[in-house]
Amino acid sequence: MASQLSREWAGIKQFPSATQTKLLELLGKLKQENVTTLTILVMGKGGVGKSSTVNSIIGERVAAVSAFQSEGLRPIMCSRTLAGFTLNIIDTPGLVEGGYVNEHALEIIKRFLLNKTIDILLYVDRLDAYRVDNLDRQVVKAITDSFGKRIWQRGLVVLTHAQLSPPDGLNYDDFFTKRSEALLKVIRLGARIKKQEFQDSAIPVVLIENSGRCHTNESGEKILPNGIAWIPNLVEIITDVVSNGSKAIVVDQKLIEGPNPNERGKFLIPFIIAFQYFFVVKRIQGAIRDDLSKETKPLWELRDMGLAKRKF
Ligand code: GDP
Ligand code: MG
Repeated sequence: MASQLSREWAGIKQFPSATQTKLLELLGKLKQENVTTLTILVMGKGGVGKSSTVNSIIGERVAAVSAFQSEGLRPIMCSRTLAGFTLNIIDTPGLVEGGYVNEHALEIIKRFLLNKTIDILLYVDRLDAYRVDNLDRQVVKAITDSFGKRIWQRGLVVLTHAQLSPPDGLNYDDFFTKRSEALLKVIRLGARIKKQEFQDSAIPVVLIENSGRCHTNESGEKILPNGIAWIPNLVEIITDVVSNGSKAIVVDQKLIEGPNPNERGKFLIPFIIAFQYFFVVKRIQGAIRDDLSKETKPLWELRDMGLAKRKF
């Protein structure tokens, strides 16, 4: 369905030729691995730059960007094709309203995604935010409860507003490291990913700058303060994640309506408890009873039970 509606990716021609060459090279690499369609889901809180990021990647203004207004409730999918390759990007409304996760918005997103396959999740936040809080954790938990923990194996953390001067005299790299660590910790907690699992498949954190005032290099490519051309860098990391051996997330009826995908094994709990009761607790009780019956009781105990004569 998506491919019927998708248009030629004309926006790529807006990019400087150095960026175009790199992007074509990356798409060629994906095609070699038999990946001809890439569906990217963009999620995060409101106002963090999700829609701007979609526009930056596509190179066209396809999603409405607003500094003040709250976004509509419906996600939008933008599809573009280029040389036999289809790129789908799904922009979603912010997941937070009035200090809580907006379950209604989440429900609409899930229904929108029905029968689609998510290849990549871009979890967007701002680089220039100095704190993480319980709300961030709730947003991550809501995403994890909807699509399963596995979605983070296909996830990238994208930090917008990357052209900044860090506060408190921190240098740029130290600030970036601190911000990434804090966010990754919240993601690990919200998604209930064990430390070990997390280290095995670390989620990449990618910096981007959507502003029209983003600095450029001599080839005209938009660059970060550390000189990296961020569009090819983002697409390169996306292709790395696609090739990391994990599976894409197929959003079917079962995933949407079934139990929380992270709690599927929970129906086994009563059986495990029953097993423990009959095979562990009962055996231990039996062994204790045996021991007690074999035990020679001390005189005072027999006396208390009336089995020995009292000496006065
Ligand atoms: P969304 O609500 O997450 O979709 O966020 P938007 O894309 O609508 O962006 C919210 C505001 O932040 C808009 O005024 C954007 O112009 C601005 N914005 C988004 N990304 C960046 C960025 O990387 N740098 C700067 N300076 N502004 C940005
Ligand atoms: Mg938006």
